[in-house]
Amino acid sequence: MNAHAASSVPAPTDPLEHHLEEFVPGDDLVAYLDGNSLGRPLRVTTESVPRFVRESWGGRLIRGWDEGWLTHAEELGDRIGAACLGAAPGQTIVADSTSVLIFKLLRAAIDARPGRDELIIMRDEFPTDRFIVERLAEEHGLTIRWIDAPPDAGVTPALVAEHASAKTIAALISGVAYRSGWWADMAAVTEVVQAHGALMIWDCSHAVGSVPLELDAWGVDMAVGCSYKYLNGGPGAPAWGYVAARHQDQLRNPIPGWLGAREPFAMTTEFSPAPGIRRLVSGTPPIFAMLPLADMVSLIERAGLAAIRAKSVALTSYAIALIDNSVPDARLATPRDPERRGGHITIDHPHARRAVEQLWGEGVIPDFRHPSGVRIGLSPLSTSFTEVEHGVRALAKALGTVS
Ligand SMILES: *Cc1c(COP(=O)(O)O)cnc(C)c1O
Repeated sequence: MNAHAASSVPAPTDPLEHHLEEFVPGDDLVAYLDGNSLGRPLRVTTESVPRFVRESWGGRLIRGWDEGWLTHAEELGDRIGAACLGAAPGQTIVADSTSVLIFKLLRAAIDARPGRDELIIMRDEFPTDRFIVERLAEEHGLTIRWIDAPPDAGVTPALVAEHASAKTIAALISGVAYRSGWWADMAAVTEVVQAHGALMIWDCSHAVGSVPLELDAWGVDMAVGCSYKYLNGGPGAPAWGYVAARHQDQLRNPIPGWLGAREPFAMTTEFSPAPGIRRLVSGTPPIFAMLPLADMVSLIERAGLAAIRAKSVALTSYAIALIDNSVPDARLATPRDPERRGGHITIDHPHARRAVEQLWGEGVIPDFRHPSGVRIGLSPLSTSFTEVEHGVRALAKALGTVS
């Protein structure tokens, strides 16, 4: 235990400080520590949305589909791929929700591995992922191989190796764990899964926009991720899906909608899938809902993911140092090694629930995670070191006074 006051931990300098003012200021906000659950909107979005209504939707009406909307999901996907995923063009598309995309990709993976009957997932994986795996396993008579990992850590290549075999269809695992913040060795885990001829599907919801991903270089088969967390796309923003080019010709979309068909406007009797990533599309792309996301992708392109990651590491390290000093009775449930850590940290404390309730009323907004976790999300482009200092100070006080 360290006797220094929280404020004695020196705040790092912030080379990305000038981007803070690009975000819409919140009401009565002291510290927003939940950017990993819902990222903040950009000021530019308060102009781009009404402009779209006026000029593109209002002005062009149905002609808009021929003037760019129809290819927008692929173009924005390519930009996310280049800026955040290490993915060459033609492999990423913006569509659906993360949950729906997980279903579609996992269902397609089952079709792609006939004769095999096992799926791998973590026991403490995000609920939506587990629910979909359980439903598909039930419908297809598959066995689920559950991986248990320590709560303050996560998946390792060795753990996966214990569960993978010639029976494995696919492993569906989070790149950054939503609770502990554990950043998996994604290249090594992918290799273990593929050594058995199985497919690796990464859920990058808590990774994208925060840690540098290299999906192509790591040889990943498929991936999905949220757009409303570190991609600041707004509540319910459409997700993105990645399918490596080598798999696309065989990919069977379980929801074969008309806009994933080869010739959508030929109104054909039979479904023939579009070439490339567009075959993952089911229905009309959510053009309107992609506007805030496109604005954030522009900012990430300007700032660069290497600088974003550097600030992310500084933010989480700073928060951990402050917590070590000022909340000595909290247990850190996040890796101390920055190489294994994403953009958020979790602490365990018996007063977590009551403290978070009180803090929300004071404009300090972390996240409560059942049963006793306080999760502190530090969105690199919108979070200042001062905010972290104020937030942790308020957290220390609340944990010490509620009971
Ligand atoms: C946030 C999150 C989701 C959310 O899925 P939605 O369909 O957008 O509600 C899914 N998986 C993980 C790992 C997440 O962190």
